[in-house]
Amino acid sequence: MPKPLIAANWKMNKNIEESISFINNFKNSSKKIKNAEIAICPPFTSLNEVNKIIKGSNIKIGAQNMHYEDNGAFTGEISPLMLKDAGCDYVILGHSERREYFNEDNQLINKKLISALKNNINPILCVGEKLEQRENNQTFDVIKGQLTNCLKNINKEDAKKITIAYEPVWAIGTGKNATPEQAEEVHKFIRGLLSKLYSNISENTRIIYGGSVKPNNIKDLMNQDNIDGALVGGASLKEEDFFQICSYSD
Ligand code: PEP
Repeated sequence: MPKPLIAANWKMNKNIEESISFINNFKNSSKKIKNAEIAICPPFTSLNEVNKIIKGSNIKIGAQNMHYEDNGAFTGEISPLMLKDAGCDYVILGHSERREYFNEDNQLINKKLISALKNNINPILCVGEKLEQRENNQTFDVIKGQLTNCLKNINKEDAKKITIAYEPVWAIGTGKNATPEQAEEVHKFIRGLLSKLYSNISENTRIIYGGSVKPNNIKDLMNQDNIDGALVGGASLKEEDFFQICSYSD
């Protein structure tokens, strides 16, 4: 298994100056982080500046979304080529906020995944159930549907490059994280599903957890066998909190 991945999803927060200030400070402290790979996903407008600062550090950058076409008449969209140009190693795809507010469905996310992989950008594919679905015992069905449809026509070699983020929608931005046991149950299910879809890749696929990860709950989450990192929203906006999360085991 590669090193755990701790990824920051800044969402629609921080202007260019705020991004620069965060990264300048965080870059220094990040030298002490030994046991995790770190990715920061700022808004598009900050990518280029952040990319300049992280050169020579152990920090990677990612985008929060992308279009599946390389270029063309898609007003307001950003292409994989543009993300590569701005230095992105990662792209978050299928985040529940994009599914909910921008009507992204599994079919569209599948196109984006195929395009990211073609362009050598490592996707972080988000899946997760809503509260009502959990309460109706539909969690595993929802995850299975999202994963199998998003991964359609993606071959084994490409699938190896995908990180799966399990993000229960009811835990995102609510301060109510899944318990380590709840998360582990779903992560184990995802790993099992991956091994059915592709032989011999699931042991090396990072399955990371997202949903109200904080400095005080990261250790217990990471102690679970099938949790290989975290996607962090709110707590990634403060350098000290994000540093503590990244150095949970140092
Ligand atoms: C997210 O948006 O991916 C997320 C996990 O947010 P938060 O950590 O704020 O719940």
